Amino acid sequence: MNYPTLLERFLTYVKIDTQSSYDSDSFPTTLKQLDLARVLVQELKGLGLQEVELNRWGYVLATLETNQKHPVPTVALLAHMDTSPDVSGAGVNPQIYRDYCGTDLTLPSSLVIQAREHPELKEKTGKTIITSDGTTLLGADDKAGIAAIMDALTFLVQNPDRPRPRVRVVFTPDEEVGKGVDHLSLEDIRADLGYTLDGEKLGEIEDETFCADTVEIKIFGINTHPGAAKNKMVNAVKIVAGLLDQLPHDSLSPETTEKKEGYIHPLSLNGNIQTAHLKIVIRDFEENGLREKEEYLQKLLDATLTRYPKARADFKVTPSYRNMKVVLDRHPLVLQKAEQAVAKAGLTPKRTFIRGGTDGARLCFMGLPTPNLFMGGGAFHSKSEWVALEDMQKASEVVVHLLGLWAKEAVE
Ligand SMILES: [Zn+2]
Repeated sequence: MNYPTLLERFLTYVKIDTQSSYDSDSFPTTLKQLDLARVLVQELKGLGLQEVELNRWGYVLATLETNQKHPVPTVALLAHMDTSPDVSGAGVNPQIYRDYCGTDLTLPSSLVIQAREHPELKEKTGKTIITSDGTTLLGADDKAGIAAIMDALTFLVQNPDRPRPRVRVVFTPDEEVGKGVDHLSLEDIRADLGYTLDGEKLGEIEDETFCADTVEIKIFGINTHPGAAKNKMVNAVKIVAGLLDQLPHDSLSPETTEKKEGYIHPLSLNGNIQTAHLKIVIRDFEENGLREKEEYLQKLLDATLTRYPKARADFKVTPSYRNMKVVLDRHPLVLQKAEQAVAKAGLTPKRTFIRGGTDGARLCFMGLPTPNLFMGGGAFHSKSEWVALEDMQKASEVVVHLLGLWAKEAVE
């Protein structure tokens, strides 16, 4: 049986527009994500996987049975099908640059990907680089992850003697809009542990995410006719502006922090004289850090309100996700085997953190330990997005090694 190569698969996937949307109440948020889902279902069936389904929420699920005699763990491999709402993913026209020489890349649209602005790209000398034509994103995030998983499955199907545990394949919609696991349950996944292939640099294993909360502040002013407003009107717009102005200008924001620093990030603001509704996201690697920032915000609000005694305010904190390290620390084998698999593929494993969340982080807290593995791209969510073919191949190789390692484990 002749199966497509990893490159062919990747090119097929990126040409299918799967952009998700913030402005949608349906699930998946855009129907076009199902176009890719249906292709993947056909391909998984073509590979002979079992229990292949596209469920009513748009998740693609499948099983590759183990070839071991002893009871083995079930390992889930996850990647997301959607691309970022920030940049168009329609009509992606992939460009292939073989034997990249480390210089700037001028895409057909005249967009230049400058090597000095993309040091990770510069390191890919001699490799095959894939980009868009500069008018869209590429969609390596996360179609490189999907392609790597499909390629690893293909290898295992073609090499039935390679030991493998039971494998569950899970391709999710709507990760980019933070809803990737909204309609996914452990009963759907039916695995003991999982790996998302949605990281970046070669060899990296992401085992830490931010802790994240959303703070919603509603301010209630008093509206009157401006002509007769003296001593009556309380303007919620001004109150919220006063509150925001008290936030530090040179720290505590995404644009002034890096590495393991947290932040307070005003995300959206709607308002008029009567009411103002402010959404702020809080991020920190520690839960204590979240609480400190929320208390600080509450104090700023209280201080602001003392100047407007007739105004009222609601302050509501909603937890979004937590640092997955807490969960992964309880399942050390999950990371150890990932490191061993990366090393077996001839790479240097590097544990790292992500200044964001992952679907894996949410799965961790649902009960499925799920770190994030690299898939080899860069400049995601932009028209400069690129991926190295050889890095995707390494991701596929790591998956094969990883499954081989888990096949040796026994479960009760
Ligand atoms: Zn992604």
